[in-house]
Amino acid sequence: MKYVFGPVSSKRLGQSLGVDLLPPKSCTWNCIYCQLGKTRKFVTERQEFFPREEILEEIREALKVNKSLDWITFVGSGETMLYKGIGWLIAEVKKLTNTPVAVITNGSLLYQTEVRQELLHADAVLPSLNAGSEALHEQICQPASGLTFQQHIDGLAAFRHEYKGCLWIEVMLLGGINDTDEALQDLAQVLKKLNPDMVHLVLPTRPAPEQEIRLPSDERIEQAIAILSKVSVVINPLKGNMDLRNAPDLLEAITAIISRHPVQQRELHKAVADCFSGDSEKANDVMQGFFETGRFRLVQHNGEPYWVMQQGENSGFNR
Ligand code: SF4
Repeated sequence: MKYVFGPVSSKRLGQSLGVDLLPPKSCTWNCIYCQLGKTRKFVTERQEFFPREEILEEIREALKVNKSLDWITFVGSGETMLYKGIGWLIAEVKKLTNTPVAVITNGSLLYQTEVRQELLHADAVLPSLNAGSEALHEQICQPASGLTFQQHIDGLAAFRHEYKGCLWIEVMLLGGINDTDEALQDLAQVLKKLNPDMVHLVLPTRPAPEQEIRLPSDERIEQAIAILSKVSVVINPLKGNMDLRNAPDLLEAITAIISRHPVQQRELHKAVADCFSGDSEKANDVMQGFFETGRFRLVQHNGEPYWVMQQGENSGFNR
């Protein structure tokens, strides 16, 4: 499949079918923690990058084989709201299924009325907010020129005002960067004004190819929860895992996921073993075969091996 991947399971969204609407990497930001690598060229103009009917057809096909989904999630190789026509896709998906639709976005384009309009029928929207000050926002997110911190906050506030679904703000907590008391207090002040339904604290558990990013200590995570909980419900960070049991082609399914973010070898092994009734040795053989295709390579992050795409193999499929 070109656009649909997973399901991937996570504490936050349960069993979630991913839909990626973008050519890699298309983004308005260049976050220092980005798993997709550096943003070589910013994209700020919205476009229908791929025909919407083609994407909808893939979702329709995926829904036939994945019967027990918790969410359909628009997320992917950059800033999701750069896809012009996402509102149409959300509406069409909701005609196909009762499964709720979530959109993961950095939120940088929410200052545009048409972007907010396109999101109104999503069941949950998860925009990013990693800092409560302009300096830290610039340091972490490195937005394209013309996209300011104030614009970001104003866009989020306008969206909160208009949107009736679940607004779950994602905060990426980075060791030594935005986990100080001062940074967390600034963030809490902004969050208080935005009044999200929840704050999802997330951690840099996967490697960022361009920069060594540190996990915050347990003490700092607890302090972040304590400070942010004063202004919102905070969801504790926890890693997700994959369910590949319904994948028609295991190698292609794994490629589709790894081309979007690195996957811990342990997690991948468990997901592959689950496809063979928990047979660990069979999973080793299968993974060895996949590795020998030359599509993947191993990197170390926080003492754990991760599978990432081989350079020049951004994706296992042609777009
Ligand atoms: S917004 Fe997402 S895709 Fe864009 S640079 Fe940041 S982490 Fe990467």
